[in-house]
Amino acid sequence: MTKDEVRQTLEYYQDLGFKTLYRRESVGAAVSGQPAGPRNALPVLPLEPAGDTLAKIIEGIGDCKLCRLHEQRQRIVFGSGNEQARLVFVGEGPGADEDEQGLPFVGRAGQLLTQMIDGTARKEGIPIQRGDVYICNVVKCRPPGNRTPEPDEMEICGQFLSRQLQVIRPKAICALGSTAAKALLGTKDGVMRLRGKWHKWRDTPVMVTYHPSYLLRPYNQDAKREAWDDLKKALHFVYD
Ligand code: URA
Repeated sequence: MTKDEVRQTLEYYQDLGFKTLYRRESVGAAVSGQPAGPRNALPVLPLEPAGDTLAKIIEGIGDCKLCRLHEQRQRIVFGSGNEQARLVFVGEGPGADEDEQGLPFVGRAGQLLTQMIDGTARKEGIPIQRGDVYICNVVKCRPPGNRTPEPDEMEICGQFLSRQLQVIRPKAICALGSTAAKALLGTKDGVMRLRGKWHKWRDTPVMVTYHPSYLLRPYNQDAKREAWDDLKKALHFVYD
């Protein structure tokens, strides 16, 4: 990378609101066998902000080892759906089924999400299905035991999420659960407080709602109704 490209990349991330960038070990250190200090390598991502694409982001992610989540993952789960979607759903991180298949929201929570999208759209007369939206997660590798991602993991992987959203440029984003809300809005407020209202990720409206895994618990029937209301709002906003 030239100096100008490095500067351009750093300014791009600064515009996105990042305060810290994480770097890989420098090639020199790896070759010489010296442990690489955190500050002695070049920026990780050869980013071309003007011409960024999902394919370039995937290529840049490669066999990512930027955080500890790579250690136990089987597959990186980048995202799936319509790359020109007007609505993007953001979850927390892959679970066991997603880790195995390399696709987001394919387990039980994913089946509920599909029902919610397809069912609500059908009832509301909105001609879309799950395949018309885009679905991804804050972190792209499964946290061991499905634990909540750590703040540094969210920040590192959040760089890829930001680029995904920048490339897709949806009309709205639906944040599923508190990890997604935290990553997109930088707030500590919980879902109960945030849900059902519009917020912003940069200039893009964000609807926060419950994570489908939470809705699978039998005692959360009220939350289920609320989630359906939130989704209705988001779908009408985007597709009316
Ligand atoms: N939960 C998530 O947050 N994301 C998935 O992809 C699956 C389950």
